[in-house]
Amino acid sequence: REVALKIAAGEVVERPVSVVKEALENSLDAHSSRILVTLTEGGKSSIVVEDNGNGILWQEMPLVITRYATSKIATVNDLSNIKTLGYRGEAIASIAAVSRIDLRSKAKGAAEGGLLKAEGGSIVCHEQLPWKEGTRLQVDDLFFNFPARKKFLRSNLSELRKISALMRDFGAAYPAVLFSLYHNGNKIFETQGTGDRAAVLRSLWGASPETRSTTVSCGSIKLECWWQSTPGRQKNIITSFVNGRIVSDPLIRGAASAACKDFSGNWMFFFTLPPELVDVNIHPAKAEVRFRYPAEIFEAVKAASLDLQNRPTR
Ligand code: ADP
Ligand code: MG
Repeated sequence: REVALKIAAGEVVERPVSVVKEALENSLDAHSSRILVTLTEGGKSSIVVEDNGNGILWQEMPLVITRYATSKIATVNDLSNIKTLGYRGEAIASIAAVSRIDLRSKAKGAAEGGLLKAEGGSIVCHEQLPWKEGTRLQVDDLFFNFPARKKFLRSNLSELRKISALMRDFGAAYPAVLFSLYHNGNKIFETQGTGDRAAVLRSLWGASPETRSTTVSCGSIKLECWWQSTPGRQKNIITSFVNGRIVSDPLIRGAASAACKDFSGNWMFFFTLPPELVDVNIHPAKAEVRFRYPAEIFEAVKAASLDLQNRPTR
């Protein structure tokens, strides 16, 4: 059983950035407006994610590391109408199975906060603890009990780069949330959290001669598209979010590389569509999605890309 848990954990947790992604998603699902991430050694020795969200009732903390226990969906019908980023109830359980975790939280309005510690998925401490509203998840010694996976981790710098890129993408996708990232005691970046996406992108992408944006609608799909020139770089970097969920989807990639090939730069696509028209439940790490009407995605990307080529600079 322990082996099975570790194998399953490996599908969700590949490297430190996978831990950060799942933790950020939980903080966002908990309606946090500030999320602070602190890493040590590229996240390999420690990852701390602290938020000011709804928190967790201290009595319910053991459920957080119990596989398939989720507070987010209750019925099979909910699966075709997923409004939260998480729904599988396996992320924290998987992370806990391959690390040492220290979870502190207090639920909004609760009298008491709590502390839960686990090693390799076994609870070693669960008690009440005074805490401010919100949640702090600390993940130490990732893969300490999974040497085969640990061997494949990259350098601290390369793990940090991945995490930092992911957090910048989240910063752009959630401009009303203040994200900050620290590594080995140094501040890497912080977004403003004012809700101004243009300002977030300016600060994340740096000064650029040109930034353009447009919003198009195509059938049931709304697409907000941002482009920024990257002089001296031919390669397109394309990032896409579907209903607030970061995806690396072959269909979107295909559509984007066709539509954007003569207009190189940083591209961000924010798709909004009715949740029942996109199946996010096809991949453990939730990276790929399936669209009910793929042609509309193609049309929207094409329309947005063409439109941007005729947009005034902002
Ligand atoms: P899922 O997000 O799919 O429900 P997770 O394993 O990511 O599963 O998290 C398990 C549960 O732990 C969540 O359903 C939620 O109730 C709780 N949880 C985890 N992180 C947080 C957080 N930062 N704030 C509030 N609740 C959290
Ligand atoms: Mg989750």
